[in-house]
Amino acid sequence: MKKYVGAHVSASGGVENAPLNAREIGATAFALFTKNQRQWKAAPLSAENIALFKERCEQWGYMPKQILPHDSYLINLGHPEAGALEKSREAFLDEMQRCEQLGLDRLNFHPGSSLKEITDEECLQRIAESINWALSKTEGVSAVIENTAGQGSNLGYRFEQIAYVIDRVEDKSRVGVCIDTCHAFAAGYDLSTSSGFTETFEHFDRVIGFKYLMGMHLNDAKKGLGSRVDRHESIGKGELGIETFKMIMQDPRFDDIPLILETPDESLWPEEIEMLKGFVKD
Ligand SMILES: [Zn+2]
Ligand SMILES: [Zn+2]
Repeated sequence: MKKYVGAHVSASGGVENAPLNAREIGATAFALFTKNQRQWKAAPLSAENIALFKERCEQWGYMPKQILPHDSYLINLGHPEAGALEKSREAFLDEMQRCEQLGLDRLNFHPGSSLKEITDEECLQRIAESINWALSKTEGVSAVIENTAGQGSNLGYRFEQIAYVIDRVEDKSRVGVCIDTCHAFAAGYDLSTSSGFTETFEHFDRVIGFKYLMGMHLNDAKKGLGSRVDRHESIGKGELGIETFKMIMQDPRFDDIPLILETPDESLWPEEIEMLKGFVKD
């Protein structure tokens, strides 16, 4: 079994610091923002940033399939208003191009929000069109849709909504899914019990398909099942509990993809990573 485990590490000071930060916590996978996630515009990556990032990843054995870049939280690919949608699409394209430059093969993003101004179907349709547009302008990078907690008017909290988008993506070889355990639980998928876990991933496989799974976010949940509230908790300290993560680590369906902690206490990441690695049975 090949499990790659890490965390969403800081890239402050330059993207080349992300692999360094990952290595320091014993990670075999990592996530990063390739630009400041709270700003629309960022300076382009320099040749030096790119070279050093690639050099470090190669030196420390981080392959593209172990790295899951995350886009800016400002982007809404399903925005109801034309001008704002355009702005989001341009920003998303810039993020895809940054991944291209870094030699990365996937970009994780939250699907989008209707802001209650358009129907869910219209919003999902827009998201698919945004993906098609960005894919047509890039090469080699897959758009990886993350399931959400369903907070506010955010879509993608039901597997059916994600499947609806994938159905409308023209190049299915470049679209994928990232499942966040906290978001799934908050959305009503009970991953806290063995039967709930089995049922949820059978449902996932039926509706979306494991072939699309290109990453996982491993987070315990602060709020209860179906709360629709996105609050992460440290592994084993929330409503999911340790067994959920044991089941993931012992299940070959989660092999060979980046498994990323986004848990709130960064000082625990080295322990959490070690514990998760310890759950793997060879
Ligand atoms: Zn997440
Ligand atoms: Zn979250």
